[in-house]
Amino acid sequence: MSFTEQYDVVVVGAGHAGCEAAVAAARMGLRTAIFTLNLDLIAQMSCNPAIGGIAKGHLVREVDALGGVMGEVADACGIQFRLLNTSRGPAVWSPRAQCDKALYRVKMREVLEAQPNLFIKQAEVIDLVIEDSNIVSGVKLRDGRTVHSRATVVTTGTFLNGLIHCGEQQYTAGRSGEPASVLLGESLKRLGLRECRLKTGTPPRLDGRTIDWSRFEAQPGDAEPTPFSFRSPFARGGVPPLRQISCHIAFTTPETLQLIRDNVHRSPMYTGQIEGIGPRYCPSIEDKIVRFPDKTQHQFFLEPEGLNTHEVYINGMSTSLPMEVQAAMVRSIPGLENAEMLRPGYAIEYDAIDPTELDRALKVKSFDGLYLAGQINGTSGYEEAACQGLMAGINAALAVKGEVSGQPQAPFTLDRTEAYTGILIDDLISKGTNEPYRMFTSRAEFRLHLRIDNADRRLTPHGRRLGLIANDAWADYEAKQERASVFARLLETTKVRVAELPADIQSALEGTSTEGITFA
Ligand code: FAD
Repeated sequence: MSFTEQYDVVVVGAGHAGCEAAVAAARMGLRTAIFTLNLDLIAQMSCNPAIGGIAKGHLVREVDALGGVMGEVADACGIQFRLLNTSRGPAVWSPRAQCDKALYRVKMREVLEAQPNLFIKQAEVIDLVIEDSNIVSGVKLRDGRTVHSRATVVTTGTFLNGLIHCGEQQYTAGRSGEPASVLLGESLKRLGLRECRLKTGTPPRLDGRTIDWSRFEAQPGDAEPTPFSFRSPFARGGVPPLRQISCHIAFTTPETLQLIRDNVHRSPMYTGQIEGIGPRYCPSIEDKIVRFPDKTQHQFFLEPEGLNTHEVYINGMSTSLPMEVQAAMVRSIPGLENAEMLRPGYAIEYDAIDPTELDRALKVKSFDGLYLAGQINGTSGYEEAACQGLMAGINAALAVKGEVSGQPQAPFTLDRTEAYTGILIDDLISKGTNEPYRMFTSRAEFRLHLRIDNADRRLTPHGRRLGLIANDAWADYEAKQERASVFARLLETTKVRVAELPADIQSALEGTSTEGITFA
């Protein structure tokens, strides 16, 4: 086969998984191409305009500590930072940032464009090139080009045979306003991998100018914002670069619930129109009402989508009810009587690959040169996608380096004791999933150890060894460890209690032992 272009690594998809995979491979020195259906929608947040949250914030910290990019981009675009779960122990504290959605795309694109060795391409990948029955050696594009790669990472999200449902309406799409990947979906089916059909959904968006904000309780961010990135300009105090905003807390009314009950038979979830399995822990509003009939109200949040838009996301009201029912539901809430809906909510069904087809490096076991990451592996969430993308990109790069040098390199894997990322991958490849998989702190057997404050100590040395941590960031990391050891020595001579020290110092001290004191 003759190829029109040649790369070491090809990444299919520029969502949250694809961006991490591509930047990692390029930073590891490999000529890398990233293909996306639409350059203007790189790192699009398909659903909520926020990064992080319980356990998800842990994943972002881990991505950052390994040298990934999601944390820095979220810090640059955050318009409200909150540290969640602070009423519980520090092990489960987790950062979340409401982000300016449009700026997030712009910033991520800037990161990709600034990355040496990385080539960004808008084109639809329709097939894989397979040699000797089980070696993937490139991709075919819809425009007729054939691209050679030594390793290919597929990160196509919800696009594979995507089918949108909104009431009785259904149409093929990758997400609202974008085409589905039907040809690639069919070509992946021909590989003979086990697949499943999953489903997710999103709420309507409102025009903020038509909301009576005085009727809702404001929820401001934290006075001292917690960044995601250890390299953030405000990691040691200071303020985020963007103006900070409040979200607002709201509740359904008895009328809202009655409207949903009266129309639930029209929800594709309940008409049998949707076959895919949805995320149990992120249910639609109609699901909540059916599953919890005794609850008299449900909370939701009004979350601005950015500083330069009036678009408001209704967190907690994901629905695929018909549009006119959605509009009536919205208007049944005091303060939203005149609210205009900018976009309706919808549900989407899509094909995913059974992740037990993968090994620990996220390589497809039965094909060489083929890696999968993100929602295609049955997960849900930007953060779950990002950590897989990073791991798949690293492993694709290691495999190519080994092949080129003639000295095979061991895959980079993380143990369940080391990182939430390790838990996620272990769960997926060993147990598979029959619903969109999302991360929880309860999945971690060693969660007292897997904290956000020690993610750098756990993972940054790996990132440095792999070539993902730049010299200045490494110098900062080493200086922090040095400060911690000075503290440890001080503790030998003073009687300061460890619990009185700042959290990051406590974590840096962990495992060190001084006369008579072991920091556990
Ligand atoms: P995506 O971010 O979807 O990116 C896929 C990329 O692949 C895109 O760049 C696309 O252009 C590209 N692509 C696809 N096919 C091709 C092709 N053939 N050739 C070239 N490029 C291609 N997560 C939550 O945590 N909570 C939620 O409430 C939630 N709700 C959601 C609601 C909806 C409607 C959708 C669509 C998603 C929702 N998600 C939610 C999931 C979240 O958006 C995804 O988990 C996350 O974006 C997955 O990242 P990814 O990188 O795997 O894929």
